[in-house]
Amino acid sequence: MRRRSADAADTGRRYRLYPTPAQAERLKVWGHTCRAVWNLALEQRIYVYSQRRKSLRADEQCRYLTRARHDIDWIADLPSQTPQQILRRLDQAYDNFRNAGHPAGFPRFKKRGARLSIPFPAQAVRVTEISRKWATLRIPKLGEVRLRIFRPLGGSIKHATIRTDGTGRWYISFGVHTGQSAAPPNGLPPVGVDFGVKQSAFLSGEVKPRMMPPSLTVGERRRLRGLERRKARQMRRAGKETGNGRSARLRRTVREIARLKARQARRRLDFTHKLTTDLAKNHGLVVIEDLRVKDMTRSARGTAGAPRRGVARKAGLNRAILDNLPGERRRQLAYKCPRHGSVLVAVEAAGTSQTCGVCHHRDPASRTDRDTFVCTACGHFDDADHNASVVVLTRALRRGRARTLPQGMR
Ligand SMILES: [Zn+2]
Repeated sequence: MRRRSADAADTGRRYRLYPTPAQAERLKVWGHTCRAVWNLALEQRIYVYSQRRKSLRADEQCRYLTRARHDIDWIADLPSQTPQQILRRLDQAYDNFRNAGHPAGFPRFKKRGARLSIPFPAQAVRVTEISRKWATLRIPKLGEVRLRIFRPLGGSIKHATIRTDGTGRWYISFGVHTGQSAAPPNGLPPVGVDFGVKQSAFLSGEVKPRMMPPSLTVGERRRLRGLERRKARQMRRAGKETGNGRSARLRRTVREIARLKARQARRRLDFTHKLTTDLAKNHGLVVIEDLRVKDMTRSARGTAGAPRRGVARKAGLNRAILDNLPGERRRQLAYKCPRHGSVLVAVEAAGTSQTCGVCHHRDPASRTDRDTFVCTACGHFDDADHNASVVVLTRALRRGRARTLPQGMR
């Protein structure tokens, strides 16, 4: 694994941007250009690899880029550092894919409907506060854009990305280096957590799981289904009558869908933040399973040669897992725990669902059904997910006794 440099971004900040209509229009064009640059670069990497078994990296691709900027107007319109930044992020996407401990899959092409994002290196943007709540962001070629600062940056900017969620709202996210040192150990009790698929989390010290509330209401869900159907209908009609042009109505439908999905994403994230803050703040040691999301959510469809069974069920499961944001939870715990004086430990996940939390006997037969654990050795009876949370905690504590607990536990 690569080490982070001492002054790398250690936290993120996201603010809402308020571009003028003209600025928003230009950002949109840039966003689509960024998508095209990403796709071109990825295509080139795949091609070069298939021909010569050679992996292109950003430095090499930058040379092609310089040439492309020269020849292609729409690439030249981007602020000069943005395409380089895209290539670096593509490097990162490849690194994450190759890193066995990282949940990322192979980098993907960005489709037309993908959320637009425009990356900048730190030195390309500048924030000037104009009041307690408002600031301006200076962007090359675009000028000053207003943003609302609801909490201070609290450090130096390391990189920045402008994004839209497809509803016409624009945001800027900063990677910020705060240089905050870890809080002293808080001395609070340890906890094991089992993140279930349906229920969000079972804590070893609790008798009931913490459930994520539905991210859409029944009415919203119904509306979303209606909109998806309308979109399909409008797409068919658009194809017939206007040769694939997008009608104003179709665009409106797409925007409505994006609005609902953005709301859903905000609610999930809100729940995840509350959960991870609670875990980090009220425990001295937080133990989770070292789950490989990559394996769990690997394509339900299978491959063309070997279509899998139970596709619909697996796809439903994938959705539930992603609904619960496993990678995001871990990422949040990793930065929140040190801040609150607790330690995050990920223990090996193998067998946690088959091991007894009381006598440590491991037997697949102890798992009588999806929800219940009945130990075949000692007869211990528990909710399967609660038992798993106890097992992960025990694993960490045993490991801790073998070495010294707080150090080297990550
Ligand atoms: Zn037992």
